Amino acid sequence: MKYFIMFGPPGAGKGTHAVAIKEKYNLRHISTGELLREQIAAGTELGLKADALIKDGKLVPDEVVEGMIEHCFDTMKDCEGFLLDGFPRTLEQAKALDAMIAARGETLSGVISIMIPDEMVFQRIHHRAEIEGRADDASDDTIRNRIATYHAQTEPLIEHYRNAGKYHEVDGTGGTIEENRARVLKLMESIF
Ligand code: AMP
Repeated sequence: MKYFIMFGPPGAGKGTHAVAIKEKYNLRHISTGELLREQIAAGTELGLKADALIKDGKLVPDEVVEGMIEHCFDTMKDCEGFLLDGFPRTLEQAKALDAMIAARGETLSGVISIMIPDEMVFQRIHHRAEIEGRADDASDDTIRNRIATYHAQTEPLIEHYRNAGKYHEVDGTGGTIEENRARVLKLMESIF
């Protein structure tokens, strides 16, 4: 099995480009944000707890998302591997993922990082709020908190994966969605 990570700040296009990659390479796309939104929509206890944190721009506890990922690895079959989107988001999660993959006798295939600056995070998320109506996209305060959370808790992963020789970055700012997608697919082709 192959294990890829889509990395980047909120609004970088991880989910959008993951769809093209998973189809081309027969990978299962696992988005922890989407799994959490499903729990919220179903009104589960976990969903209720996650809802408050997500609306605040904060992260849900590591063990919650780690459990979700492990469950996906255990149950998703008939594929070439996994494309993780929005996980890991903390160093603790990255280490847990390293351990999960090692326990399966495998190694991480690579991290595809899509980089955009903070001003663009705002623009993109405002635009997405109009189209998708996500609760955590709605207010400026939430977006600001998500950006702060990204810098404080998620950005340190870049060094973790650079040190492991797994980190690959593309510029997510220039041109149309199709042009950005082409850059992401080209990178994927070089590391698959
Ligand atoms: P996303 O759709 O990836 O932007 O995720 C939406 C929200 O879900 C995030 O802002 C977090 O509150 C929560 N979330 C998603 N993935 C994780 C994760 N790996 N760790 C903690 N919280 C997460």
